[in-house]
Amino acid sequence: MSQAERLQSIKNSLPEHVTLVAVSKTKPVEDLMVAYQAGQRVFGENKAQEMTAKWSEMPEDIQWHMIGHLQSNKVKYIAPYVALIHGVDRPELLDEIEKQAKKNHRVIDCLLQVHIAQESTKFGWDPEELALWATADRLGAYSHVRIKGLMGMATFTSDEQQIAQEFTNLKSVYDQLCKVHTHWDTLSMGMSQDYVLAISCGSTMVRIGSSIFGDRNY
Ligand SMILES: *Cc1c(COP(=O)(O)O)cnc(C)c1O
Repeated sequence: MSQAERLQSIKNSLPEHVTLVAVSKTKPVEDLMVAYQAGQRVFGENKAQEMTAKWSEMPEDIQWHMIGHLQSNKVKYIAPYVALIHGVDRPELLDEIEKQAKKNHRVIDCLLQVHIAQESTKFGWDPEELALWATADRLGAYSHVRIKGLMGMATFTSDEQQIAQEFTNLKSVYDQLCKVHTHWDTLSMGMSQDYVLAISCGSTMVRIGSSIFGDRNY
């Protein structure tokens, strides 16, 4: 299958309420343009400089999603144009996004990242701490940040039961917080290896890279 065919077959397999983020990190603009020509408009990158370089070269109607761990000092580079920041894992980062969004006269959509995996290397809020923090009306303090929901990554394992358990945990934190934050509409979970499972556990946004663009060479 060609890249465009792989993209098309994934798109065809997704339920209508699930948004596809095409994760294009490390891939050249030519590859992204193939996906663009096939109708893809949402792209995910994990490095601020790389995303900004691609944004400046590519058509304006693309929605750029920052999916990686974001350092506070990089927010200013993406604040003028970023459509959604998935990996908000600490209050200080929200403070910086608020500041840079205000400078750019924008409201920036964000997802709070929850730590659901067993690996200690993955970033994100502890689910219980997040539930306390996010229900205590801390989010009311931000006028240039709009939280849309949650994001999480499962453990890198072939144990499907474990992955399903982690996704189900995230979905239940999401459901609980949606009762307070009634405008939330996004649960970003699922990558190439586990997106079908993620959707069955309630995902509304999947981040798929290698199944579309092929393996990455670092
Ligand atoms: C790289 C990456 C993906 C995509 O991973 P694939 O396995 O290539 O689909 C999804 N989410 C995040 C946060 C990533 O860094």
